[in-house]
Amino acid sequence: MNTKRFIAVAACALLCHMGMAQKVNRSQDPQMEQKIEQLLNRMTLQEKIGQMTEMVLDLVVEDQTLSINEGKLDTLIRIYKVGSLLNVPRRTPQSPAQWQKYMETVQKKSLKELGIPCIFGLDQNHGANYTNGGTLFPQNINIGATFNRDIAKNAAEVCAYETRAGSIPWTYSPVVDLARNPLWPRVWEGFGEDCYVNAEMGKNAVIGFQGTDINHIGPDHIATCMKHYFGYGNPVSGKDRTPSVITPQDLREKHFEPFRSAIEAGALSVMVNSGSVNYVPVHSSYEWLTQWLKEDLQWDGMIVTDWGDINNLYRREMVAADKKEAICKAINAGIDMSMEPYDYRFCTLLEELVNEGKVPMSRIDDAVRRVLRMKYRLGLFDNPTQNSKKYPDFGSKKFADIALHGAEESMILLKNEDHLLPLQKGKRYLVTGPNANSMRCLNGGWSYTWQGEQTDKYAEGFNTIVEALKNKFGKDNVTYLPTVEYTEGGQYYETKEYGFDKAQKAAREADVVIVCIGENSYCETPGNLSNLELMESQQKLVEAMAETGKPIVMILNEGRPRLVNKIQPLAKSIVDILLPGNMGGDALANLLSGDVNFSGKLPYTYPCYPHALSTYDYRQSEVVGTMSGAYNYNAKISQEWPFGYGLSYTTFEYSNLKVDKNTFTADDMLTFSVDVKNTGDRQGKESVLLFSTDLLAQQTPEIRRLRNFEKIDLQAGETKTVKLTIKGSDLAYVGYDGKWILENGDFDITIGTQKIRINCKQTKKWDTPNK
Ligand code: BGC
Repeated sequence: MNTKRFIAVAACALLCHMGMAQKVNRSQDPQMEQKIEQLLNRMTLQEKIGQMTEMVLDLVVEDQTLSINEGKLDTLIRIYKVGSLLNVPRRTPQSPAQWQKYMETVQKKSLKELGIPCIFGLDQNHGANYTNGGTLFPQNINIGATFNRDIAKNAAEVCAYETRAGSIPWTYSPVVDLARNPLWPRVWEGFGEDCYVNAEMGKNAVIGFQGTDINHIGPDHIATCMKHYFGYGNPVSGKDRTPSVITPQDLREKHFEPFRSAIEAGALSVMVNSGSVNYVPVHSSYEWLTQWLKEDLQWDGMIVTDWGDINNLYRREMVAADKKEAICKAINAGIDMSMEPYDYRFCTLLEELVNEGKVPMSRIDDAVRRVLRMKYRLGLFDNPTQNSKKYPDFGSKKFADIALHGAEESMILLKNEDHLLPLQKGKRYLVTGPNANSMRCLNGGWSYTWQGEQTDKYAEGFNTIVEALKNKFGKDNVTYLPTVEYTEGGQYYETKEYGFDKAQKAAREADVVIVCIGENSYCETPGNLSNLELMESQQKLVEAMAETGKPIVMILNEGRPRLVNKIQPLAKSIVDILLPGNMGGDALANLLSGDVNFSGKLPYTYPCYPHALSTYDYRQSEVVGTMSGAYNYNAKISQEWPFGYGLSYTTFEYSNLKVDKNTFTADDMLTFSVDVKNTGDRQGKESVLLFSTDLLAQQTPEIRRLRNFEKIDLQAGETKTVKLTIKGSDLAYVGYDGKWILENGDFDITIGTQKIRINCKQTKKWDTPNK
């Protein structure tokens, strides 16, 4: 990074610590707007529809050679005038130079035939995971667990640089879906269950990806696509793409919030939730797409469908009779681009709809303007491709260190009896379990391929857990016996087991047993699950190890919180490493050895029982102690570990919580200060979380809500005064009438063990979406 960029990063770090991201200029560039209008005026209807069409690269790629077939490209661009492409060729990640070649061919053709560059998008979801040799960061669920905004921003910045090194200007990232159902197979793609964490991390990621001047996105940045708008992470069944049922209050107040906040930070595009919310398929909702996003937020970005989802309006959701009616509904609802991605009939049917007057020309023009604006903002007209050689930091050690640091800050120490951790050098360790020697497991889905099944081939140069432990503790001190393994080529949940006797014998000879369990990689619908409990073979392995009487360190490597209530008591130490990416093995070894201290906290509630699922912000009335009369009911919220939980090798003491004003109104800024002391004997980082509780309201209030956080670093014995600011209106909620309301009355603010009461003097009610 050059000096100028360094200063920018440092300035952002300061603002981030104040709970704010950098200010982004979202105003339009009048000259650019003029160019868009002039171009639009010259375009035919077919050309306009082409700009609204996105196809998959595979359509023009040869099976064997993976080279572009000129004839097929001609059909795509000259005949159908398609303006957007996506995805890797035949599930094969490409180097920056290879991507550049693809892009040169596509852009040359596109500029020749249409005079408009193509916009190419990739799912670069945890770093440049579709660029061979790129830096693979921890997945977003880990970034959430760091409670450190800088990590979200820095990871996105590196990803943008490495993606643009291959001339790819657009990523379908970040995911800011609230993971409200732990069964959902996409829990790990977002930043956890809380809307504030998703909003903050999403906003910082947007700035990392795009920079702060959205009219001039330079060669180190790319456009983001926030997804999946919205309510996707709360399916009633827990299964991917099945209906979510969400109260209108939560939909507006929580699920909408990360998108609102990302758009404020300049997000250039949004991808739509494939499913339905309250039985309304989001792709067909004028209210949610046009009114809420485009009109209410005065947003000039563009909306793309998810994979083939206009088709799903007639194939799955049954709200349209056929493809033509589905297109009509979606485009009129506000879709600007259809990720078809195989069927050219979108172009011809939409043309018919316009000619029949069923889709107004003004809607087409609006959509095309938005697509062209994004292309201009990305500078694609002037620089359709980049020179991959001008990205010397691609895949560098410098970037790997940023990923390592992110992974270290994201791993969560959940239990540590008798100070079993840190592990001592010179002792003997048995490492076992299906996750111990797998780069695939460390990375999860969206890693080199969609399902991540080839990660061990592509990430060969990185260390698995057992490799990193051998490096740290010495080869001779670490014995590895998997005993349970994921079946190669099988479903993600299939395992085989063998050699339990041998493993027990080895355990008896060791000082400590490290059991690495969790999940194999999966993505989207193939990751559906019907039983949240950790699979039986893995539980059996922990039980077998426990029979030996040796102390157990249980490593959970998983994309969602698999239930461990039966085996949890058998382990003295438990670490949830989630999906930490390519540097995950090294990060874990650094933490287990005590070279680095733990500082991650759970970004979701870790459930204990399959039928007692909850989020941290449950309603106060969900806890029913007694029922008057003859019965005595006990409705408890049970959880294995709460949201925000995470231990450290040191301890922190909170004291002296103060606020600069005890009474407030909606427009007041409230500054809380609290002293945090490191009371242990070693350095440690602590995420300081500020929660509010509304004591009395017209609508049953939540038990608590996260309103701000900041991560600090403390030397042993050191005390820091942490200041956290919130606005009075942050304590408002959305009522049943869809309006925000801040009610007068008392609120409790809790930070660590400290609590303080503040009073709102004046009720204020206002329309959405402005806070
Ligand atoms: C996923 C999206 C992804 C898209 C393009 C869909 O199946 O739901 O998250 O961006 O494919 O690959």
